[in-house]
Amino acid sequence: MRVAIIGAGLVGRILAWRLNELRQGFKISLIDQHDRNFVGTGLVAAAMVSPFTEAISTEAVTQALGVKSYLLWRKWLPELAAQTASSITFNQKGTIVVAHPQDQADFKRFKIKADAMIAADKMRSINQATLEALEPQLTENFNHALYFSNEGVIDNQALYTALNQYFDQQENISLIENTKIDQLTNDGTLKGFDQSFDWVFDCRGNGASADLKDFRSVRGEIARVYAPEVTISRAVRLIHPRYPLYIAPRQNHEYIIGATQIESDNDKPVTVRSGLELLSALYSLHQGFSEAQILQLQVGLRPTFSNNQPRIEYDNKLIRINGLYRHGYLFTPTIINDLIDTLFNNENLT
Ligand SMILES: Cc1cc2nc3c(=O)[nH]c(=O)nc-3n(C[C@H](O)[C@H](O)[C@H](O)COP(=O)(O)OP(=O)(O)OC[C@H]3O[C@@H](n4cnc5c(N)ncnc54)[C@H](O)[C@@H]3O)c2cc1C
Repeated sequence: MRVAIIGAGLVGRILAWRLNELRQGFKISLIDQHDRNFVGTGLVAAAMVSPFTEAISTEAVTQALGVKSYLLWRKWLPELAAQTASSITFNQKGTIVVAHPQDQADFKRFKIKADAMIAADKMRSINQATLEALEPQLTENFNHALYFSNEGVIDNQALYTALNQYFDQQENISLIENTKIDQLTNDGTLKGFDQSFDWVFDCRGNGASADLKDFRSVRGEIARVYAPEVTISRAVRLIHPRYPLYIAPRQNHEYIIGATQIESDNDKPVTVRSGLELLSALYSLHQGFSEAQILQLQVGLRPTFSNNQPRIEYDNKLIRINGLYRHGYLFTPTIINDLIDTLFNNENLT
């Protein structure tokens, strides 16, 4: 079968990889308007896999989809690392949630919601002694926290690099770069390609906006910093009435600080205001961040439908997968796994 996947972002990449792993005999063309090193939304992302903390601030369904993805990542990432002789860190140390003394009312509200939604073995209140044992540097400013042990953070740069390598290794997968595809039909033909396809998957994220109803982009800005004086080993979320913030740790004292959430499709560079908000909230977490070096300030657009939920649309040979919003890493494995399962008669393919 010949398959075209338009968009080699997060969803397109995972789809190409999993289709190829789960079924032999596909000839896959993975097509993107940029080259393989372009830093699009999927690479700007903090790549946290946070089924519980995200469910509390979004919708309940987030938890079920996210837990399944978390388990799939645990299985899939070591397989990909072994196949490509690479190392893809999946930090599974969980998430700590804190708030400053003046924001304890918001912290309490968050905890009430969490208590109602999250099972007791997935979240616990921790005191200063436990916080000291988990993240000693956080006790400089915080004497209690919530701890969600079953959440993680993926090194998405390493994931993309390993996938590039995987695609190069597979004779039946062509990664076609710098090729923009705009007119998608449902009959398996693609402008510029002689042969037709059995399936065309539209995974263009924001690039598909002109073809989708009730679709919008939500701008997100992050800072990447190098903070040699800071040692925080797991994801941290700061509850704040105006500037909620998270830190997603990477290797060697590098941290991703995110993220703004602005209803806009403007992908121009990070504004002074957003930069100040992110960095001052960061500084309030630990003083060691004051000497951090700002490596990058980056912008990504989250592809989003009006209900903030992902959507798969089937139209003859054209299948559109979009609306991953702020949950690309949290939802994509489940969505792709279930999609392939559906396409192949509900066999259990995990
Ligand atoms: C600041 C920020 C932080 C985030 N943090 C997290 C997080 O911690 N956890 C989480 O789960 N999610 C997070 N996300 C969300 C996640 O990044 C997105 O949900 C995900 O990237 C969407 O994947 P996608 O493949 O649909 O789109 P993309 O990753 O944007 O990929 C779309 C691809 O299609 C290509 N394309 C577009 N138009 C065309 C065309 N006409 N022809 C050919 N190619 C085309 C693009 O070049 C791109 O490569 C974050 C997002 C942002 C912005």
